[in-house]
Amino acid sequence: TVPFGVDLGNNSSVVAVARNRGIDVVVNEVSNRSTPSVVGFGRKNRAIGESGESQKTSNLKNTISNLKRLLSLSTESPDYEVEKKYASYNLTDKDGFAAAKVNYQGQIQEFTSTELVAMYLNKLKAITEKETKVNVSDICLAVPVWYTEQQRRAAADACLIAGLNPVRIVNDVTAAAVGYGVFKTDLPEDKSRIVAFIDIGHSSYACSIAALKKGELKILGTAYDKHFGGRDFDRVITERLADEFKQKYHFDIRTNAKAYSRVMKAAEKVKKILSANTSAPVNIESVMNDVDAQSSMTREELEELSAPLLARAGVPIENALKIAGLTVDQVDSIELIGGCTRVPALKQKLSDVFSKPLSFTLNQDEAVAKGAAFICAIHSPTMRVKPFKFEDINSFSVTYWWDQGNEDADHLEVFPKGTSYPSTKMITLYRNGDFEITAKYTNPEELPAGTSEDIATWKITGVEIPEGEESAACKIKVRQDPSGFYTIQAGYIVQEKEFKELVEKKVEEPSSEESAKNEDEEEEEKPTPEPEYRTIKKLVKVKDLNVQYHGHALSKDALEESLEKEFKMVADDKLVAETEDRKNALEEYIYDLRGKLDGEYAAFASESEKESLRKKLTAAEDWLYDDGYDSTKAKYIAKYEELASTGNLIKMRYQQKQDELKQKYQKKREQ
Ligand code: ATP
Ligand code: MG
Repeated sequence: TVPFGVDLGNNSSVVAVARNRGIDVVVNEVSNRSTPSVVGFGRKNRAIGESGESQKTSNLKNTISNLKRLLSLSTESPDYEVEKKYASYNLTDKDGFAAAKVNYQGQIQEFTSTELVAMYLNKLKAITEKETKVNVSDICLAVPVWYTEQQRRAAADACLIAGLNPVRIVNDVTAAAVGYGVFKTDLPEDKSRIVAFIDIGHSSYACSIAALKKGELKILGTAYDKHFGGRDFDRVITERLADEFKQKYHFDIRTNAKAYSRVMKAAEKVKKILSANTSAPVNIESVMNDVDAQSSMTREELEELSAPLLARAGVPIENALKIAGLTVDQVDSIELIGGCTRVPALKQKLSDVFSKPLSFTLNQDEAVAKGAAFICAIHSPTMRVKPFKFEDINSFSVTYWWDQGNEDADHLEVFPKGTSYPSTKMITLYRNGDFEITAKYTNPEELPAGTSEDIATWKITGVEIPEGEESAACKIKVRQDPSGFYTIQAGYIVQEKEFKELVEKKVEEPSSEESAKNEDEEEEEKPTPEPEYRTIKKLVKVKDLNVQYHGHALSKDALEESLEKEFKMVADDKLVAETEDRKNALEEYIYDLRGKLDGEYAAFASESEKESLRKKLTAAEDWLYDDGYDSTKAKYIAKYEELASTGNLIKMRYQQKQDELKQKYQKKREQ
């Protein structure tokens, strides 16, 4: 297998793999280096990625985009209403979360956001396996910094449904920063270089401040604007065109989803043209009521229209710096990524914030995917990669709660906002029986609106009070893991036991609560031939506890069910593709054979043979445009074989003659 990194973009996604020589971006079936993040549903099959994008305009109602925004989106979030505005399909509420209702295989079917993302990831996997000719199983998936525990769990579940093993979920800007740190050769060895990484993409904007040294990276602060990206610029252009068309042509594209979607597309083009030119034309053929709409826009006009947006451009930077405890003048370099950073007015704005020129060291579109592939390679047991240490920053404070019992407190803020992860902490609780621990966000008001404050509950069972004790001292190993998940990794009971140790030997301090490792090691009693002993007391593990997770991750059954559904859909897609292949092959054969009958095969069949075969060819052709237009794989194969039985006979005679001639020619040459 090959380590696989995916930058799941709201607009398009980039895939990279780690190969022996380095990190390569994978091109898709039409040789593009990024793939539209789109899933379309048809009468028989799905159209995902490039094919999804090309069928979109004619199948708006059954084509899902903005997948990244939908993933695990609560219908209570104000963002749900925002996404409704961008959705041309039926965005629905399934058990409190965004889902999509589409007409697929002749039935109205509903898919969860996790299933939709899984379909898309599965397609990226297939593209990668085809291009690299190697199986893909481990994935490092890049997600926005503002993804909560629930969204990250959904992302990991989507990987599983796509048959991928999520070795790590990583923040997209962090992945890009890791890529920068690994490939930049001039990083200092002692004093850190402070770099601001800014990613402005299709729908959101994130800024992370990082400290970099040779082989090391630490994210010091991160902030975001969830509603700042290319599509917001497209929207202001579209709205302005809608107003103009209403005046000029007396129709309102806002009342016609197809028209609105086409103007959005045109608006994106205008925006891109205005990044390189000072004015752009707008021509949209028969946009509505058979009217060809025309207009134009200048760069100045776009800047005016987007002034409210541009005014917010400095906010994430200020917030990230505040968390990092730094000021703008302490930033050594500003690295921009994301397609939207090509907008000139935005670049100017960002440069003004720092009063410094901006850098574009990284490939704007590919940095995240490449970083993710490198991180996946770090986790691979078979790849040899340059050692690189990196720590991310925890975006939300998290507290673990338990039933107070005889404890002094019933909770502890284990992972405060702004601390680094991965990180492990030990909690000791004195219990008389099995118990539960619940993790919650400490400050729900810090969370993206509509986010549930619950993270997970763990059932801790197997508690037994050791002999001679009043309660069991339970050590709970709590961890914010590399993917940012808040977990309980293990639990066990400890007891104080007496040990004898050599007097000469320096007596070790009893281990602190911070380190579980030491405690494990201390179980061993070290025998010694020396007679002088001293009795000491130490905590040792006496029993492991069972830790059972109940959180946002899908249950085994739910996962199984989604896996089966996906498996069936992939099989259906494959059958449709193969059927199409067989049909094309038949069509090609008809034309090819007909041509050859009048050409190279002409002398190798009798007139009556030719006549009868021509009739068969015409009949097959007629069938293809009639009943055979939409037939089965087996029928196309059967038709092909029927024609080939005569065709191959003639071909054989022709080939025999060719061989004879060749031999004759060779003999002549040898003489
Ligand atoms: P996100 O990171 O928000 O999930 P994404 O990764 O799909 O989305 P990118 O590929 O970084 O987004 O950027 C896509 C956006 O960049 C689109 O809105 C696109 O219109 C815009 N964009 C691309 N090229 C240009 C350009 N030359 N000028 C202006 N905008 C551009
Ligand atoms: Mg992006």
